Amino acid sequence: MSDCLFCKIVAGEIPSDKVYEDDKVLAFNDIDPQAPVHFLVIPKEHIKSSAQITADNSHIVAHIFEVIAKIAADKGISENGFRVVTNCGKDGGQTVGHLHFHVLAGRNIGWPPG
Ligand code: AMP
Ligand code: ZN
Repeated sequence: MSDCLFCKIVAGEIPSDKVYEDDKVLAFNDIDPQAPVHFLVIPKEHIKSSAQITADNSHIVAHIFEVIAKIAADKGISENGFRVVTNCGKDGGQTVGHLHFHVLAGRNIGWPPG
């Protein structure tokens, strides 16, 4: 999608602080970190949000969670734990309309969310 910020990051048109990449997904550090560890994992394919997950594309979500577990192990945050969040739509607080999973760690992440 030509006017999508995260598609531009995937295409390399906007730089990112890359954490992991394969043929299906990209992970990069959030530009405005909310915890000592805060990175985003996104599908390279443009999917607007978790409201657009179907039987045809749900495999990418499974793959994203595999990647999150691998990065978490590499970063040494598996033991203490982490929070995975995907905001969806206006009420969910989504500001970038390309599916992404926040991974937050390195402090006790509060619950419930605000
Ligand atoms: P959300 O509000 O759930 O849609 O999350 C969007 C996230 O993208 C926010 O945490 C932003 O800080 C982050 N973000 C926006 N622009 C960039 C960028 N160029 N590089 C990295 N993260 C970004
Ligand atoms: Zn996109």
